[in-house]
Amino acid sequence: MPIYAYKCEECNNDFKANKRAKERDNAECPLCQSKMVKRALSFAMHVKKAEGPRPLSQVKSELLEDKKKMIKEARREMEGDIEW
Ligand SMILES: [Zn+2]
Repeated sequence: MPIYAYKCEECNNDFKANKRAKERDNAECPLCQSKMVKRALSFAMHVKKAEGPRPLSQVKSELLEDKKKMIKEARREMEGDIEW
């Protein structure tokens, strides 16, 4: 589950929360229970170590997904270059 960073607009508290992507905008300040919190945009981190060892096949398929993503992005950039 990704960790998101938030800042409470009521009490200025900085906090982090484990959230599903769908629920990332439903955070609540742990100090004042305010829902007036802002999510820090660039902070999303997957906690992989805490989940313990995973089967190699799973790791491999995740790496493959990463590779596919990289290829897609590279292709998009290339297409951009051609249009330009
Ligand atoms: Zn607060």
